[in-house]
Amino acid sequence: MSFPSAVKKQSRLFSQSGGNGDSSTELRFISDLGRSLLFTVHPKKVASRVADAIQHGVQAEVCAFMAELENIGVVSCSFDEKGEMDPRSFEKSKFEKWLELLPPQVGHKQEDPAEFLLSGKTHKLEYVSPLHINGEIKGAIVVGFSKKQDFNDAKGSLIDAATQMAAMSVNLSSHYEAAINNSINRAKEEHRRFTEAVLDALPVSLYVVDRDFRIVTWNRHREIGSKGIPRESAIGRNVFNVLARYPEGRVKQEFERAFRTGKIERIEQQTAADDGSMQHWMVSKVPMKDPESGEVTHVITVGEDVTARVAAIHAVGRAEKLAAVGRLAAGVVHEINNPLATIAACAEALEQRVEEGVFEGLDAIDDLNEYLGLIKSEAFRCKSITTGLLDFSRIRTGNRHPLDCGEVIRSSANLVSHQKRGEKIDIEIEIADDLALLNADGGQIQQAVIALCTNAIDAMPKGGTLTMRAATHSNRVAIEIEDTGVGIPQEDLSKIFEPFFTTKEVGEGTGLGLAVCYGIITDHGGRLSVRSNVGKGTTFTILLPITAQVP
Ligand code: ADP
Ligand code: MG
Repeated sequence: MSFPSAVKKQSRLFSQSGGNGDSSTELRFISDLGRSLLFTVHPKKVASRVADAIQHGVQAEVCAFMAELENIGVVSCSFDEKGEMDPRSFEKSKFEKWLELLPPQVGHKQEDPAEFLLSGKTHKLEYVSPLHINGEIKGAIVVGFSKKQDFNDAKGSLIDAATQMAAMSVNLSSHYEAAINNSINRAKEEHRRFTEAVLDALPVSLYVVDRDFRIVTWNRHREIGSKGIPRESAIGRNVFNVLARYPEGRVKQEFERAFRTGKIERIEQQTAADDGSMQHWMVSKVPMKDPESGEVTHVITVGEDVTARVAAIHAVGRAEKLAAVGRLAAGVVHEINNPLATIAACAEALEQRVEEGVFEGLDAIDDLNEYLGLIKSEAFRCKSITTGLLDFSRIRTGNRHPLDCGEVIRSSANLVSHQKRGEKIDIEIEIADDLALLNADGGQIQQAVIALCTNAIDAMPKGGTLTMRAATHSNRVAIEIEDTGVGIPQEDLSKIFEPFFTTKEVGEGTGLGLAVCYGIITDHGGRLSVRSNVGKGTTFTILLPITAQVP
């Protein structure tokens, strides 16, 4: 411990003078102590300097300092001949009793060991000098002497004087320390708030867990949305309890891996939103290391909603594929249509001949008729496929006029009602009164609606209800084609818009209906989406922009 040499030199003041210190050495002791305290700004240092100086100065066995200060709490320390000792040997309860019994203005000597404030020592006499701070006794300096004759009144006065200085010093320094603590705490608090605001401003959901899987940070984004959890019910709790909806084993594995490997890991996840649509998430587990030990102390989990990005990537892929197929189809169709027309024409010509009786008497005349019929029908089927392909590849910026979707729906319903086959299918139409007009190609929109209705009917082999709706949603018109059919399995949802994707029997589906529909709608600046529930039904939604060009 550092101690001003002036005070050290003045120690054992009383030894030379045989018990009664002379006043000049006493004064020097006091002034040296005062000077050393001038440079002491920490209450703990004040306490230890004073206790050390007194213990040396009056040749005490032990000297203890104890003060309870409003702004910084308890300050205590004690010195014996060997240096510092355990300040807990100061018995606070006895001190309180002592205060109650005789609130002393100055020091007080005790010779009954039962009354001693310092325990665990062998001293025979104790001198207790109260610390007056702001008019109240806030503590005391207790000095223990190993022999009763080691103490005298002069030493008592000296201890009292030192105690008074200590009281002043410790009071001042405690204010200083409290002020420093306050400003440090305020700066810390400001910094904490700023960090929290930064985390809350990020457009990702974020939380942090410690080694015990306890949540220590939970940002605002993690609070909102259907999967959000309020911060109050997350912070401080075990992450597995908070995220109880997720399989604990999996969540635990992910965290343990991050803690073990210290490597950033990205996991793609999908969740179903409340309306049945899929949401895509990129979840990153970021291990946070202690800069000194390099040990992973926390894991940050960042979740980013990438639904729009995934959809855009799919849309670009789909558009590219459609364009490529379109170019291919246009070329192929051109080459195939001519021979097809020839085949059909030849078959028709032969039929004509049969009718004219040219093959009269031929044994296989029935076969001939049957085969000619087959050639013709198959040629027409090929023709319908090539027409579909052409529709698909044609540039569709055709005739755009003000269009009433309600009309399109009614006439489409009329057309498909004749297509209904097998079991009973009810067609329901719901058209909003305030339906806005579109600037669109009526023929193409009808083609798209009919393609969706045909699929819907195909999906209800046991009958059901086909509902066709149209309504205005802010700046768009929404057309919905809903069925109560078989539904579309999750794994097919991403493929149904691809050209040639079909789950229907050969000869029943071309797999072009939705691809054409998709092309028409996107050409009109609109969007085509689907929601489906296997076994319950499917809803296709067309959103078309209401453009300013509409009169
Ligand atoms: P196609 O009808 O010729 O098969 P589409 O492009 O019209 O081709 O449809 C592709 C596939 O999408 C269908 O084969 C079917 O599996 C599925 N599909 C389309 N609409 C529905 C629907 N409303 N309900 C169930 N499945 C559907
Ligand atoms: Mg179809």
